[in-house]
Amino acid sequence: MAPLFTIPHGRYDKGFDTAIYTPPWARETMKTDELREKYLAFFETKGCVRRPSDVLVPRWDPSVLFTPAGMNQFKDHFLGRCKLEFTRATTCQKCLRTGDIDNVGRTAYHHTFFEMMGNFSFGDYFKREAIHWAWEFLTSSKWLGLPPEKLSATIYLDDEEAARIWLDEIKLAPERLQRLGEDENFWPANAPSQGPDGVCGPCSEIYYHTAFGQVEIWNLVFTQFNRVGDPPNNLRPLPSKNIDTGMGLERTASVLQGVESNFHIDILRPLVEASGEVCGVSYNPEDENGRRLRRIADHVRACTFAIHENVNPGNKKQGYVVRRLLRRAVLDGHQMGVREPFLHKLVGCVAELMKKPYPELGETVASVASVIVNEETNFLATIDDGLNRIERIFDQMKRQRRGIVSGAEAADMFQTHGFPPELFETLAAERNLTFDWNGFRDEMEQHGIESGGGQKVELFRHDPLEALKKALHGSRFLGYETLEARDAKVIGIIANDQLCDHVDEVDHEHPIVVVLDQTPFYGEMGGQVGDRGEIKGTGFRFQVIDAQVDGAFTLHRGHLREGRIELGAAATARVDTERRQGIRRAHSATHLLHYALQKHLGKHALQQGSKVDDDWLRFDFANPAAISVEDLIRIEDEVNAKILTGAPIASTNQSLAEARKAGAMMLFGEKYPDVVRMVAIGDFSKELCGGTHLSNSALVGIFKILSEESVAAGTRRITAITGRRVLENIRHVQTILAQAGAAMRVPPEELPDRIETLAKELRQLKKQVVAGSRGGPSIDQLIAEATELAGVKVVIAEVPGGPNDLRQLIDQLRRKVAPVAVLLANRQEEEQKVTLIAGLSRDLVQRGLDAVKWVRAAASVVDGGGGGRSDMAQAGGKLPENLPAALEVARSEIEKLLSAG
Ligand code: ATP
Ligand code: MG
Repeated sequence: MAPLFTIPHGRYDKGFDTAIYTPPWARETMKTDELREKYLAFFETKGCVRRPSDVLVPRWDPSVLFTPAGMNQFKDHFLGRCKLEFTRATTCQKCLRTGDIDNVGRTAYHHTFFEMMGNFSFGDYFKREAIHWAWEFLTSSKWLGLPPEKLSATIYLDDEEAARIWLDEIKLAPERLQRLGEDENFWPANAPSQGPDGVCGPCSEIYYHTAFGQVEIWNLVFTQFNRVGDPPNNLRPLPSKNIDTGMGLERTASVLQGVESNFHIDILRPLVEASGEVCGVSYNPEDENGRRLRRIADHVRACTFAIHENVNPGNKKQGYVVRRLLRRAVLDGHQMGVREPFLHKLVGCVAELMKKPYPELGETVASVASVIVNEETNFLATIDDGLNRIERIFDQMKRQRRGIVSGAEAADMFQTHGFPPELFETLAAERNLTFDWNGFRDEMEQHGIESGGGQKVELFRHDPLEALKKALHGSRFLGYETLEARDAKVIGIIANDQLCDHVDEVDHEHPIVVVLDQTPFYGEMGGQVGDRGEIKGTGFRFQVIDAQVDGAFTLHRGHLREGRIELGAAATARVDTERRQGIRRAHSATHLLHYALQKHLGKHALQQGSKVDDDWLRFDFANPAAISVEDLIRIEDEVNAKILTGAPIASTNQSLAEARKAGAMMLFGEKYPDVVRMVAIGDFSKELCGGTHLSNSALVGIFKILSEESVAAGTRRITAITGRRVLENIRHVQTILAQAGAAMRVPPEELPDRIETLAKELRQLKKQVVAGSRGGPSIDQLIAEATELAGVKVVIAEVPGGPNDLRQLIDQLRRKVAPVAVLLANRQEEEQKVTLIAGLSRDLVQRGLDAVKWVRAAASVVDGGGGGRSDMAQAGGKLPENLPAALEVARSEIEKLLSAG
């Protein structure tokens, strides 16, 4: 791996004002960091709660690959699906839009990764406030102070309410207000005529007019309707209306800083320049390379954020998007003449430029860079071949007058040269050739490749708990303190995906779900399995086989074993204590393991995933290579040492900021609530964790690693057991040993010696069997029957077997005795064939004897000829009946040769 380049770090160490590139505008105008802070502060003055950015990769939300907008984290709030702790919020959200990839570098205002400033109302303030506040923030000299005459707005065709606010209250000149259709100014686009059904509403966009053109900086969405069926009259007013607005941070910064492109603002231009530096090209905004450098800057920034959240380049989902972005950027570098990995050198620069809002990026610079350099190296290894192949395809297409790249060609390029189809398509487009996407997908289908697009927001799934969630806050979880809840009440029953008010024992075959107002059952979360146990009430007994979490509710899945369960019934819920205790042991041991991995492998060995079960655990963590046996033992010893110290285990609730200050281990890409639960073991392990733990490390009993293996590139997996399972495991191994010892008739400790002896005997026997199966004399027999002439052993014999067998025998003989002269022969009467092979030990050859001469003399008697080397020669003949005579000749010939030599 190439050494990681350091220039970009050093260069920006002292901050941007002293950076080498400080154009005049950057000295006087508002910095992006200041703008971000101003926006949040402004909306706080309007009663909005400042909330942190959600992660870029919301693994909790299967409907998107990356967070596409600020509202994404509030989807449940907007739908009234969760309890609202606040009704006004403001955020700065990290976003990534794959749909804008092709715009990057070409337009002045599109990135893949960008930050969206948002303010949100959940049934609280509405259109009037949203418009007034946006205007105030943009134009008030206390805030941004943009000249009103440079701003304009758009509204949805017949949104009279918005028109009146803009014209009568804001006093926007009528020529500065434009009315647009549902394709532009409705969310979701075209919803009134095309759907989907559900919440929707008109938008109002705010534009800024610069010397270079106009740019949309802010979009205000007024969610005020419920769409029901097709037009007409299908938009019903919602009783509770919402506001969702998004202001592009980079776009607004470019306006404030008076630059012609987002890429020239203070937090991006240095990255573009650094991209030029690592590619050995100076940045000229006007030329093709300028476009390439902007794209490189954009893509490396996006990938740094995504990889920081543990997305590795791959062929699926988010990983594929990262791969595609990285490879596109590498191709851009390649087209500027770069042949070595360069992108990874920019990670430090990204972290430096983004450190104010995202200081955590600085902690993963090295690991992110190493992921990137790997991907670069892999792609660079095939890129030249790939480009040549593409050129040949283009030439061929020209000759065939074909305008469409076929699916098979694209699939082949992807699989053999790692060329993402989108890249191929881009190269084709440069030649005015098109691309057969359907064909490509058909080709790839059997390989299970998913392409990166498709960020459809899916807000309208059926959820049997919906009514319950609207009516109640959730179930109270008692499971940290107790394993039994005596006065619980049944508040929900779900059978066949429907809420019902009762179920009878005889009614159901499939598991049903019971929801209680309070419960000691831990629902599966954070890798820890759900509890099992029993819920009992007057006239019913329900066996819980699993517990899951859905929002704030715990779902008890299982079987009604007796009677009838009804809504409102009083119940006692009891967790299977012994199993829960095993889960606790495994969970506390997991934290000890995480600690030991960090200590012995390094800070990079962070948790990637885990599963905690009854005295059993599986832990995935980042590490580039397999763990050596010595390290595994060290890690296992460390965990057991920490068990033996009997360290107290305590959990406390505190704010995220406090926990961070206390040094709690936080997982990047993990979504943490404001108040977090921190689990501390002694003074050495602090993790944010909602799981159930022991009160003292000694209660783990003992910890034993069973295996260490790879799960994905850069991710290892340890499987281990605790407590009574270790005892069971020891017993199991002992039993096996005892059985083996009995079978071998030795005490277990003598088994290794015994097995080795047996293996040796077996090898010898095998050899004898092989020799025996040839049916001829053994080596020892041949030696015993040898004659001796002038101190030389002479072996002349007819033996069964093919030429190879004869040669092997000769070799074995030569290894056993020397000096030796051997001539072995055999005949196949039916085929009228004779084979003769002669071999001489080295000292005889040195004395001038020649096996070729010898074998030829004998072969002449069976009407044959031969050849070979002086130490080993072979001859064939056609008169098997003469073989005994030939062997006689061989004997007299060797006598002659020996006496002459
Ligand atoms: P455009 O039509 O310019 O692509 P949009 O209509 O897709 O913008 P919205 O979905 O309304 O944008 O997002 C809200 C705001 O986020 C926009 O007004 C803009 O300031 C910003 N924004 C959207 N997409 C990007 C992007 N790819 N790069 C930078 N900023 C963006
Ligand atoms: Mg867009």
